[in-house]
Amino acid sequence: MRKGLQKDVIKKLEDIVGENHVLKTDDVLEKYSKDETIGLQAWPDAAVRVRSADEVSRVLRLANEYSIPVTPRGLGTSLSGGSVPINGGIVLSMERMDQLLEIDQENLMAVTEPGIITAELHRLVEEQGCFYPPDPASKDSCSIGGNVAEGSGGPRAVRYGTTKDYVCGLEAVLPSGEMMTIGGKVVKDVTGYNLAQLLVGSEGTLAVVTRIILRLIPKPKMKVDLLAPFNSLGSAAEAVSAIIGEKIVPTAIEFMDNPAIRLAERYLNKKVVFNTAAAHLLVQLDGNRQEDFEHSMDMVEQIFVKYGAWDLLVAKEPEAQNRLWEARKCIFEAANKMGVIYETMDVVAPRCCVADLVKSAEEIAEQFRLDPMCVGHAGDGNVHVLYFKKDDMDKEEWDRALPKASKLLYEKTLGMGGKITAEHGIGLTRKKYLKMDYTERQIDLLRGIKKTFDPKGILNPGKIFDA
Ligand SMILES: Cc1cc2nc3c(=O)[nH]c(=O)nc-3n(C[C@H](O)[C@H](O)[C@H](O)COP(=O)(O)OP(=O)(O)OC[C@H]3O[C@@H](n4cnc5c(N)ncnc54)[C@H](O)[C@@H]3O)c2cc1C
Repeated sequence: MRKGLQKDVIKKLEDIVGENHVLKTDDVLEKYSKDETIGLQAWPDAAVRVRSADEVSRVLRLANEYSIPVTPRGLGTSLSGGSVPINGGIVLSMERMDQLLEIDQENLMAVTEPGIITAELHRLVEEQGCFYPPDPASKDSCSIGGNVAEGSGGPRAVRYGTTKDYVCGLEAVLPSGEMMTIGGKVVKDVTGYNLAQLLVGSEGTLAVVTRIILRLIPKPKMKVDLLAPFNSLGSAAEAVSAIIGEKIVPTAIEFMDNPAIRLAERYLNKKVVFNTAAAHLLVQLDGNRQEDFEHSMDMVEQIFVKYGAWDLLVAKEPEAQNRLWEARKCIFEAANKMGVIYETMDVVAPRCCVADLVKSAEEIAEQFRLDPMCVGHAGDGNVHVLYFKKDDMDKEEWDRALPKASKLLYEKTLGMGGKITAEHGIGLTRKKYLKMDYTERQIDLLRGIKKTFDPKGILNPGKIFDA
């Protein structure tokens, strides 16, 4: 035990989940003191690994009685500090609640516990000929509960939408310990306010999700990935607009600029194909009818050529497809593991503005002497802008430049009709920018909702806005 929790509280927690699942020592607590947000760490007093909704309820009841902060945690891959316990207290780890409970073929629904790894959920439903589309790039290491709490997206959002589009029902526990079920195995439901969707994207601040009912779709029969190199980021962005303009809706349209290609090379320690390109566009198409599928493929190839793509790789088999995605998928991990100082922005603009957004990001970098990198989900307008500290820049200059550059990028994005975060959440890192988009009145409404769910403010306090 680090500090803070009284002995009788520890004893009661151990009575609920068993002694082995109340973690108290620094060596094991380190994992629960951070997520994947660079430079953020805060130690909990204990981490409690629950196994059932009943245990969640009993832990929350106790925490509420003693006014102990509780930070829910899936698998700790948040990029906005969501699962960092900035007020100490208890980290409520959902990692043991990791079972897929049911695949209901008659209703095309899956019922799952929150702690299952998203890629494992994909695998299990696909074995049954079903498909759960949302696919964050972190799918091999994040949980479906975390995806619900963050409202996560992923490359396939272009065609299939994000987590919110698949949540039909939830079981959740309020900070008071009361359990509730919302929605169900129904595709339509307008009973009162949409509480399920209120919890989607609530970043663990309103309730703890203990069971999730997800809509599934049939698994598409055909899938192909196309990768093309471009000589300028602008022409790649124009090709994206042209694809959408032709009313082709690929499964995914991803892009990465040259600094991203080079970072992937250094991290993977091997040559990335077309590594001199100013940008790569990676398009995935899927479908069931051969004729439609081939038509879309032809159209995309023609558009690529028209906008200056100087080569094309086509991958139809899983192994080749994985190779095509390898560089794009490793970017955040590469940036985190290369020991460099950087900040990630998760801006989203209307799709026709992607080229302008990227141009603004680069101009701002030049203005504040930062090294920019742009990767992301070009097909849905979500650009991840990474600003790196230059080698010859001291920490003071970086600390001065970064907030100004971020603020300016957010101003430009909002000016285009965009948003300051598309899928990574406000969490801790973006809460100072919330008022750039929301009025005081809107923030008051958010606070009112929080107070209704959590009058004592014990659940993930300090996230999204100050208590
Ligand atoms: C390399 C990398 C790539 C990524 N790519 C993407 C991407 O493509 N798209 C995308 O959207 N995100 C992406 N992310 C961000 C991250 O993976 C997602 O936000 C993910 O949904 C977090 O899941 P998690 O299980 O790790 O949750 P955690 O990080 O543990 O928690 C995230 C938030 O959810 C809350 N929470 C977790 N479980 C519950 C629960 N059961 N009930 C209530 N609240 C809960 C936590 O309190 C916290 O606020 C990426 C991250 C990394 C490191």
